[in-house]
Amino acid sequence: PGKRVLIVYAHQEPKSFNGSLLKIAVEELTKQGCSVTVSDLYAMQFEPRATRNDIVGRLHNSEAFNYGVETWEAYKRGGLSKDLVEEQKKVQEADLLIFQFPLFWFNMPAILKGWMDRVLVQGFAYDLSKAYDGGLLQGKLSLFSFTTGGSKEMYSKGGIGGDIRYVLWPMQHGIMHFCGVKVLEPHICYAPENVSEEKRKEMLTAWTQRLKTLWKEEPIDCSPEWYFK
Ligand code: FAD
Ligand code: ZN
Repeated sequence: PGKRVLIVYAHQEPKSFNGSLLKIAVEELTKQGCSVTVSDLYAMQFEPRATRNDIVGRLHNSEAFNYGVETWEAYKRGGLSKDLVEEQKKVQEADLLIFQFPLFWFNMPAILKGWMDRVLVQGFAYDLSKAYDGGLLQGKLSLFSFTTGGSKEMYSKGGIGGDIRYVLWPMQHGIMHFCGVKVLEPHICYAPENVSEEKRKEMLTAWTQRLKTLWKEEPIDCSPEWYFK
């Protein structure tokens, strides 16, 4: 109760399975007394491209554009574009970040990757020698909740897709852990398009159930071994 949650949601269709997972999270967490904010990226027409438009006013070096340097400098002087400042404020205020999306090419959809690229600016999310356990977003939790086309068997160690943890490495370790954010167990709904209506209902109930005891969970040990051992 009283916890603040930001759900960053990347699906075009509210009637989708991802839309249903989002709705459940908003309802259940609100019921618990959490304050829930949703960044509905497609509805917001969120800009995924990292360009010079993200910097308001003069560039630090207008001769040769360097996105990392320019956004870092702009962050320090309060010169980032309004949409980025708004997202950073939501992140800053959140105790828990939930990412809800369908798996696209073993990764997050481009619009969500663009959110990561543009919002988690140097100086805000990490800094020189302030990364991983020392990242600037310490004290926060994250949870990747996503759906797949492939089955659980396909995403096992001996399966054609390999262990699903391999796709979590860049997201959980490379992004969240890098920024100092602790990582809860991912929540994966395998192949909602290819299972029975009954199985789909079961998966939705399982998400509600998990959310009920979410605040009692311990973060994973987000080290290379968790992913590749
Ligand atoms: P939907 O099709 O929206 O939902 C599935 C079914 O659930 C629908 O029939 C829907 O009506 C129903 N439903 C919705 N809400 C409820 C409810 N409340 N109760 C009961 N039923 C409900 N998959 C991979 O595994 N690996 C990849 O690398 C990969 N790459 C992709 C790349 C692209 C560009 C695309 C487009 C897809 C890719 N996929 C991949 C597949 C993708 O991950 C799945 O299509 C997606 O995860 C399915 O989720 P959804 O929310 O879109 O499902
Ligand atoms: Zn890690």
